[in-house]
Amino acid sequence: MKPGKLKIKISKTLQAKIAKGHPWVHFYQLQNRDIRGNAGDLGVIYDSNNRFLAIGLFDPVSDIRLRILSTGEPVVIDAEFFIRRLEQAVLLRRTLTATATTGYRLVNGENDGFPGLVVDRYGETLVIKLYTEAWMPHLDLFLESLIQVSGCSRVVLLHSRHVERTRSSGPAHGQILHGPPLDGPVHFTENALVFQADVVEGQKTGFYFDQRENRARLKEIAAGKEVLNVFSYTGGFSVYCMAGKCRSVTEVDVNQQALIAARENMMMNFPNKVSKEADFLQIPGDAFRVLSEFKRQKRQFDLVILDPPAFASRKEHKPNALQAYLRLAKAGAHCTRPGGLLFAASCSQSVPAKEFFRSVSLGIRQTGRKEKALFKSKHAVDHPVNFLGGEYLKAGCFEVY
Ligand code: SAH
Repeated sequence: MKPGKLKIKISKTLQAKIAKGHPWVHFYQLQNRDIRGNAGDLGVIYDSNNRFLAIGLFDPVSDIRLRILSTGEPVVIDAEFFIRRLEQAVLLRRTLTATATTGYRLVNGENDGFPGLVVDRYGETLVIKLYTEAWMPHLDLFLESLIQVSGCSRVVLLHSRHVERTRSSGPAHGQILHGPPLDGPVHFTENALVFQADVVEGQKTGFYFDQRENRARLKEIAAGKEVLNVFSYTGGFSVYCMAGKCRSVTEVDVNQQALIAARENMMMNFPNKVSKEADFLQIPGDAFRVLSEFKRQKRQFDLVILDPPAFASRKEHKPNALQAYLRLAKAGAHCTRPGGLLFAASCSQSVPAKEFFRSVSLGIRQTGRKEKALFKSKHAVDHPVNFLGGEYLKAGCFEVY
């Protein structure tokens, strides 16, 4: 069905924010809350002088009712519009090809001008993940543009949990939109290291590309170290540390499937490292429990990596999340040798970097130790942030005395 057009009415204050690049209109911000429309209808906002201000995608079942596609001059949302945006996204990531990296985020939602839509590239396979059904009526046009710009040979579609719950039409989760069926995991490279990922059953779209630069930083300082990779998932950090000639890697994750995939990833890069527990050990289980068991045994490592899942998905969870980051840093510091390194990351959008780092420092100090930051980092080039509140990832590596 061809998308309809709707007139969206909002306050002057919100108009000003949208003009500056804010990408959303929430339901409670609508002045015409009784507005009816279908997912993917184009909502147009006019300013108080009745001049065009912005156009976006309407979603009748999402709290975010309108996701802004474009502000300023009136535009037609067609293949040409998508192609222009995709070409900009490709251009922004051009430096990655020189680093032998074929796995990365090609479209980072709002930040690349495609609100509620992510595209990850795994070699020749692209994975589109939709966070709103509003993309459904535009999917064919978007797909055509994506294939043209990327030249990739396969495109897989995934839905967020919200879309999967509320979806009323269109292709299903895991459907191949273009190219041959999947015959197992897909392969890709990151800084010349090889990986595989299950793009349908895995977490996110299969791999955490957002940590690529942090993994590369740890590779540079891993030589000779005993590494503890907590929340290892499919072993991204482990493979990099091994490439940096660390002495050994111990992985902890509650997800057995992820550990199997992590072993596979290690095997593909360092086949002679996976047979001896002294080189490569995997511990399935709860991170907090495993860390306290290590503390009891006085087992310490030279480099401890803490990359947990998000502890706060909403603002009201922030205090609990900060407490959890503190507890985790404390548990991690207990397992870090004097003079060793503790790397801690947070992907909780509602926890600001400053407060996260404060919790990590407090946690380390509660063990009676002191810390000095070796580096702190935020978003990588393929995860640009272009609006206030769009940032989620922060990480720091601390020397612990
Ligand atoms: N560092 C990883 C990404 C981590 S994602 C990478 O670079 O790819 C978070 C991981 O934490 C997931 O694999 C999830 O299975 C695991 N996890 C979640 N809760 C856990 C817990 N309580 N104990 C151990 N692992 C947990």
